[in-house]
Amino acid sequence: MDLVLATRNQGKVEEMRPMLASVGFNLINQTDTDIPSAVEDGATFVENALIKARSVAKATGLPSIADDSGLVVQALHGAPGIYSARYAGEDASDADNNQRLLEALSEQSDRRAFFFCCMVFLRSAEDPTPLIATAQWHGEILQAPRGDGGFGYDPLFWLPEHKQSAAQLPKATKNSISHRGQACAKLVEALNVHANN
Ligand code: IMP
Repeated sequence: MDLVLATRNQGKVEEMRPMLASVGFNLINQTDTDIPSAVEDGATFVENALIKARSVAKATGLPSIADDSGLVVQALHGAPGIYSARYAGEDASDADNNQRLLEALSEQSDRRAFFFCCMVFLRSAEDPTPLIATAQWHGEILQAPRGDGGFGYDPLFWLPEHKQSAAQLPKATKNSISHRGQACAKLVEALNVHANN
């Protein structure tokens, strides 16, 4: 069955395609369509994921999957949260956002943080019973960036049990343990249950 993945991020498509293929879905990438990005004006990750999924389901008439993710820092009362991509301003680069995070935490000894991902599946734009999977990936914010892999806040996200930052982890390792990898695995499980019922 065809399914549209509501993201313009090629990295996410590559992460999710193999997992979703295992459930028998043929992924159509939003980037290969002329569907514009939806305005993410929800107050939570769940709301924003639903907004994105509903927008592409409506435009294509096909089932859709979308995810919304970001960094949640305890000492900053959950910031940058849903504003992770634009923490340092509308057109902020990853480096700008990382710099702002380091400044916000400069006086803080509590460096705990987690990435959060919400991934949703909608059978249609009007689907009243979406499948929703969420996951957290816990770590600590470093005092300075380490590593040059990954994207976003990866160079500042330290994983004590791996003794590496997320930007130093091999790509396959990150995909299997990250917030997005975990949420995608949960969604695939829910889709399998859905397909067999
Ligand atoms: P979105 O899910 O594409 O809206 O991602 C929002 C923002 O959260 C990204 O632009 C990154 O700044 C941050 N983010 C989400 N997932 C990751 C990750 O795996 N590593 C680093 N940053 C991430």
